[in-house]
Amino acid sequence: MSKVMSNKTPFYENGLRFECQGSGKCCTSHGEFGFVFLTIDDRRRFAKHFEISTAEFTKKYCAYNLEQEAWHLTEDAKNTDCMFLKNKKCSVYEARPTQCRTWPFWPEVMNAKSWKSEVESFCPGVGKGPLWSKTEIEKIMAEDFENSKKIGS
Ligand code: SF4
Repeated sequence: MSKVMSNKTPFYENGLRFECQGSGKCCTSHGEFGFVFLTIDDRRRFAKHFEISTAEFTKKYCAYNLEQEAWHLTEDAKNTDCMFLKNKKCSVYEARPTQCRTWPFWPEVMNAKSWKSEVESFCPGVGKGPLWSKTEIEKIMAEDFENSKKIGS
């Protein structure tokens, strides 16, 4: 995991424009970004959304990754789309996991090289919509960083 704070002037010093265009592209496995990992808070939020217990939600919709020691949404081997992606839209938008809320400002892609190759090249939301300031971006990066520490809880 890359550091959230750095002394170097970041490539997003003057902010970045981003607005989700509803392409659903980030909701399908691509490259290293295979799983939608879930913290206990994410699973509780989902359980509330579906009006079932957290244990029921976990049993029905989640799989455990032994390597990462973490829960993630179950994947279909033949379909790389997230199970909640319907007609290119998130069908659980209000209850979506933190990992989805913080995209694309994940610490691991917030360097010029990764941003260009892993985000800008395929996400149509980059360069559109409101300008996110450096402060706002780093707040989201910090949220994602804290969230990733809780994955596996
Ligand atoms: S939960 Fe929603 S936003 Fe997250 S990957 Fe699935 S469809 Fe996309």
